[in-house]
Amino acid sequence: MATVDKAEELIEELCNACRGSAIQDMEDLEIFAKGHNAVEANQLRHWDINFWSERLRESRYDINDEELRAFFPMSRVIDGLFSLAKMLFAINIYPADGLAPVWNNDVRFYCVKNLSDVPIAYFYFDPYSRPSGKRSGAWVDLVVGRSRILSRDATSCRLPVVHIVCNQTPPLAGKPSLMTFREVEALFHEFGHALQHMLTIQDEGLVSGIKGIEWDAVELPSQFMEHWCYQREKDVIEEGLKSTSPDVLLTQNAGKLSLSSKEIQLESSINSILAVNLYLSQKGTFKCITVTAYNLVKVRDTLMSIAKHYKTGESLPEEICLKLLAARTFRAGSELLRQDCNCVERDDSGAVSHVPIFKSVSHAPFSSLSLKIRRYVDLELHTKYVPGGLESVYEIDQRVDTYAAGYYCYQWAEVLAADAFSAFEEAGLNNEKVVKQIGIKFRETVLALGGGKSPLQVFIDFRGREPSPEPLLRYYGLKPSLAAA
Ligand SMILES: [Zn+2]
Repeated sequence: MATVDKAEELIEELCNACRGSAIQDMEDLEIFAKGHNAVEANQLRHWDINFWSERLRESRYDINDEELRAFFPMSRVIDGLFSLAKMLFAINIYPADGLAPVWNNDVRFYCVKNLSDVPIAYFYFDPYSRPSGKRSGAWVDLVVGRSRILSRDATSCRLPVVHIVCNQTPPLAGKPSLMTFREVEALFHEFGHALQHMLTIQDEGLVSGIKGIEWDAVELPSQFMEHWCYQREKDVIEEGLKSTSPDVLLTQNAGKLSLSSKEIQLESSINSILAVNLYLSQKGTFKCITVTAYNLVKVRDTLMSIAKHYKTGESLPEEICLKLLAARTFRAGSELLRQDCNCVERDDSGAVSHVPIFKSVSHAPFSSLSLKIRRYVDLELHTKYVPGGLESVYEIDQRVDTYAAGYYCYQWAEVLAADAFSAFEEAGLNNEKVVKQIGIKFRETVLALGGGKSPLQVFIDFRGREPSPEPLLRYYGLKPSLAAA
């Protein structure tokens, strides 16, 4: 999808945007390690970084994955995921257990229908770990892809069937299956892949679903879906919020409803207000004011809609939610730079070695990075191989494997996904009508066209322009957010 020039341009831009924040991260880490009397604090080495950054993460965010599980019962997460898919892509997902044989009693079978109730795809969902016979992780794969030629009559279309596999803890001792937030993200990610398999409209099997899509575009739908795990919007009270008393002023601010009159000032969380009677005391007599907040709009809030305590139904506490959101950008500059600079140094003999980016807390390695910008492992194969030249493909392959050659794909896909998500954000995530329109456009382009059209053109069809790294930098806190801009 990307040309070499575009990929290099992207890496250079990300590198420049991250450098300052990565230096700050190193300084923070050094201060933190010193504060813990670490002997290595004055010269943190590459192998010290992970240890100290994990300690710093714990001290800043103090998120206990195991405690968080109680807020993510799997059934609720799945309901939230399905209703998000319905809202965005105009599909309904129905249980279809019994319609197809399954390999384990826990495996569910679902039918995906369009809004006219016509089936368009099916999927298996194999949720729980089985240590004796199932490998770990989460993944999606095709059982059969959409294909006209392989349909029974070769004129209609064989519908795609997908399997989505997770390794959740099974329900135990009256406790439902509970997920960590990472597992929630992984499920959203895999569901994104499944959607591309299932919502394809390509009838030719070789280009339907994700088939034929270039490496650097194939993670777009999956990473796009991950963004929704973090999507939160404040509640909005539509104009016209009423009270029965004309001299009572109702306003909303930062999740609170304020009521003020000459006699009284009240503030309440607007999450809980639907219709309340407020009894105001005035010189010993009570007067009743009914605040009718029927036009309180609970806007789309994916995170909070799925995060409810499995026993009490209580929402994820606001401070934990804020920590989850903040932890997303923890050392983001360093992490992006680490990926960007998975580069090589070459000595006179042509041998290459990895650059130890964080070899010391002195910042010399950062300053020299731009000089090495054209020596990325991932682009080496594309840019340095000269057909008929001194090096054979074998020799290139010996020093740069195909995985490394495609390494930039991770960031390219992140850029595409963030840019795609930002289309919704720019339109206003609290405007459900517009969000739906953009969702349909995403479905009709990215999810539908498979490998039948160049991924760059597909992206342009959706976004109206070529991809930009700006949104990714915003989500990682390396550029001002839209609200702050
Ligand atoms: Zn993936």
